[in-house]
Amino acid sequence: MSKFLNEKYRKLQPYQPGEQPKIKELIKLNTNESPYPPGPGVMEAIKRNAELLRLYPDPQCVALKQQIASAFGMRVNNVYVANGSDDILNFAFMAFADEKSGVLMPEISYGFYPVFAQLHGVPCRKVPLAPDLSIDPADYTGRDGMIVIANPNAPTGRALALYQVEEIVRTNPESVVLIDEAYVDFGGESSVDLVHKYDNLLVVRTFSKSRSLAGARLGFAIGAAGLIADLERIRYSTNPYNVNSLTMAAGIAALKEDAYYRENCEKIIKSREETTKALTALGFSVTPSKANFLFVRHDRIAGETLYRKLREKGILVRHFATEKISAYNRVTIGRPEEMEKFLRAVERILEEETQ
Ligand SMILES: *Cc1c(COP(=O)(O)O)cnc(C)c1O
Repeated sequence: MSKFLNEKYRKLQPYQPGEQPKIKELIKLNTNESPYPPGPGVMEAIKRNAELLRLYPDPQCVALKQQIASAFGMRVNNVYVANGSDDILNFAFMAFADEKSGVLMPEISYGFYPVFAQLHGVPCRKVPLAPDLSIDPADYTGRDGMIVIANPNAPTGRALALYQVEEIVRTNPESVVLIDEAYVDFGGESSVDLVHKYDNLLVVRTFSKSRSLAGARLGFAIGAAGLIADLERIRYSTNPYNVNSLTMAAGIAALKEDAYYRENCEKIIKSREETTKALTALGFSVTPSKANFLFVRHDRIAGETLYRKLREKGILVRHFATEKISAYNRVTIGRPEEMEKFLRAVERILEEETQ
């Protein structure tokens, strides 16, 4: 840290992204990327549009917004797009959280939320999860301050039902309720349609997980026109070109080949269920997941030890040092053959541990 850094950022604890090591043959189950490549339409669109790089991208992102609006039965002014959904979360905290009432969020959730709160100087009001790691919607009804919930939640994978989300949105009419649906395509219920009914709901989505475009950095939000206009106000005050032209072309193409990504999600769900069964048979506790990952622990091996031993075998999962969840590992669902290798490695490690 230099002596020049502004006082207000000196205590900031930045988010720690999962590792992206360049090890050959690594089985990478640590950052919830899709194990399947982008579809042929995306590849084609990127080639076809490469010459656009000479020009600035359309700051209004009209073509992409239209495609998203029609895919979700919305109007263009209900759609916001940005450089990954992290970009949207940042702007949403900036726009809708205030210093007095702060942001209400589950104690165990996406690690970036507290960072954004800190960055924007708003208090983080963390609500504990139930012992089974589920969110009790009653903790969020009729509160004040912005509410941020990942649904399905990360890293637990547990999801709220649509009626439960609606209850939270309905009983907090003076606050923005942000529902982060990064993983909704893997079996959760989307709240997008509630946007027709409530002016305080912002649903945030990403192309990074179910649509195989983590590297392109593309996220979108669906909400009442007023909320979208507020976010645009901030985007036009920071970086109106935050979505590049190739990413826009890729996003449009991905929406046009939706069936391909749906099929991949089906494969991932099937593999998730098989892996859950296999891990349970090996004595693991596996949190019921509606996401493309599993949150697992075993009484006979510490979370950190399992993480380290898997890493030695070239398999990367995500371990969080946070006290309450340090017994767990989060395991992204990869291709079936990768999950097979993961399970064999886990078996061997458990055998070693009990010798
Ligand atoms: C991965 C993830 C994001 C970030 O997605 P990007 O669009 O890649 O920035 C946001 N929220 C949650 C809960 C996530 O797991």
